[in-house]
Amino acid sequence: MTPQSILREVFGYESFRGPQAGIVDHVVNGGDALVLMPTGGGKSLCYQIPAIARQQAGHGVAIVVSPLIALMHDQVGALHEAGVEAAFLNSTLDWDATQDVEFRLQTGAITLLYVAPERLNTPRFLGLLDELHAQRALSLFAIDEAHCVSQWGHDFRPEYRALTVLHERYAGVPRIALTATADALTRADIVERLQLEDARQFVSSFDRPNIRYTIVEKKDATQQLLRFITREHPGDAGIVYCQSRKKVEDIAETLCGHGITALAYHAGLDNAVRQTNQNRFLREDGIVMVATIAFGMGIDKPDVRFVAHLDMPKNIEGYYQETGRAGRDGLPADAWMAYGLQDMVNQRRMIDESPAHEEFRQVMRGKLDALLTLAEGSDCRRVRLLAYFGEAYAAAPGRPKQGAAPWGGSEDTSVPSVGARYFCGNCDNCLNPPAVWDGTDAARKLLSTIYRVQQASGISFGAGHIMDILRGKATEKVAQFGHEGLSTFGIGAAFSELQLRGVLRQLIAMGALAVDAQAFNTLKLTDLSRAVLKGELPVNLRESVSTPTERKPRRDKPGGRATPPAAAALNAAGLARFAALKAWRAEVAREHNLPAYVIFHDATLAAVAERCPRTLEDLGGISGMGAKKLEAYAAAVLRVCAGVDSN
Ligand code: ADP
Ligand code: ZN
Repeated sequence: MTPQSILREVFGYESFRGPQAGIVDHVVNGGDALVLMPTGGGKSLCYQIPAIARQQAGHGVAIVVSPLIALMHDQVGALHEAGVEAAFLNSTLDWDATQDVEFRLQTGAITLLYVAPERLNTPRFLGLLDELHAQRALSLFAIDEAHCVSQWGHDFRPEYRALTVLHERYAGVPRIALTATADALTRADIVERLQLEDARQFVSSFDRPNIRYTIVEKKDATQQLLRFITREHPGDAGIVYCQSRKKVEDIAETLCGHGITALAYHAGLDNAVRQTNQNRFLREDGIVMVATIAFGMGIDKPDVRFVAHLDMPKNIEGYYQETGRAGRDGLPADAWMAYGLQDMVNQRRMIDESPAHEEFRQVMRGKLDALLTLAEGSDCRRVRLLAYFGEAYAAAPGRPKQGAAPWGGSEDTSVPSVGARYFCGNCDNCLNPPAVWDGTDAARKLLSTIYRVQQASGISFGAGHIMDILRGKATEKVAQFGHEGLSTFGIGAAFSELQLRGVLRQLIAMGALAVDAQAFNTLKLTDLSRAVLKGELPVNLRESVSTPTERKPRRDKPGGRATPPAAAALNAAGLARFAALKAWRAEVAREHNLPAYVIFHDATLAAVAERCPRTLEDLGGISGMGAKKLEAYAAAVLRVCAGVDSN
């Protein structure tokens, strides 16, 4: 079969997306490829279709290297549903099951085999591969989550380093490495580590137009999160990232206390508990997973409607990767982060205290700074995010025109305070351009206070005390050190504490102020401080937004669940069919021990519900209905629809 007919018949999709066709073509013909494509872009088909095509052409089995043991069962299950012979080998299989897979492998009965890198590197498995290679029965190697090979990535796995063996030991077998994130440094590292110098690179746009980015100032983070979820995402599936295990558990408990079905996930939990929670998140509707970054890689649940960060990630790659788990189905989704001064201080401290050598820490500081600049910025988040990955945001059909201000004015009028020339129309700064104020005066007052205090007392102090002096507050500590006598005492009384915190964050983000983690997070001047003090370096700040951007809640009726975006276009009869189809799908999924979306996506069920099918022909051409699924489920789907319509 041609790739196009495999796409249509096996997967039920009409056409390739973006660069898929070119990638598939290249690999089918035996080329090596490095694929950089955002989450939800459709990476899996880039190796699954070549695997099927090459096996049909007599090239044998494709080996898929993936770090995600806990997800292999579902990945293979999804292929079975589409009628593809797939299997996995990992530590969850018992001896009999392992032998069975190995036997099927040797007899050419498997099209795709998923393995973890640590399994691949065992002598037993390499022996099997040697045999297959000798028989010219290895069709290709797919290296999923390829950024795991790089220490600059955010999920470094030392076992990935050993994958160079593929290239040397199995010469001539095409390799395709895939990742959803890689800045220039990480990309170069992947190429070098996996020796992909001669591979063709396919770099997609990293834009995720359906994700709305919002970064709010942290005040009472838990309350802010609760408001965000109950107003904008009632009943939706989402992920909440926190830094510490303790916080994960506290937040999960708080959410549950407010009637939200929340589960916890972190590396300190028992393996069985983690697996159960992950399975529930994947299999049930509307669960909120509160997690550390240990959760999420490879999670292919398509209808995660929001990703919230209660603590700031380490860098933009982490932020992009984590937020990218929202909205794989292409429907509207939110990336929401609350961040504050403490986040900056914590992240800096973790870098300073890490045992890594200085060169490495320097790179990490640079990466953190880029994220701080994103958070502090008053211009389009998307433009900055994409710029970080070396991409210039460009207008595309269906997107607001470049430079077109979302409030309807033209670029050069009304709101000159917005720095960016480009507007994506789908981030907080584009939707509600923040006012910008000139914080240079406040910054100079703040820096000179730090200088004076240091001069007068010979020691440094933390942010709280400095702000008290600046605002002229007669605290005990002020009295203790006689700081009310300083010439800067009270000179910042006109600024609110919120404003001064903003100034502090901005100065730290700019590098004009340092936080000394070794000395109780005290504030230290830097070389750049001088430039600010002398007025050579302006400090522009976004006005603290006291009321965060609020959208009209998507809730349909008070206390009710929101209509999933996939079903937004349905009328009452269609909604009834959709609900019945979902109930039927849930049963099938339970029987097969698979997540519901592996059986059919919401969008596929919505398309069925809209069409009101009576016959098999009526189901033709619905996206996501491959030949095998049609054969297995058409009768049941027609029966469910008929049952609803006869009522
Ligand atoms: P990634 O691995 O890049 O995050 P997936 O391979 O999981 O993305 O694909 C994301 C979703 O898009 C999946 O549900 C997949 O079935 C769907 N998809 C991929 N390619 C196509 C296509 N050409 N047409 C329609 N849907 C597609
Ligand atoms: Zn924007």
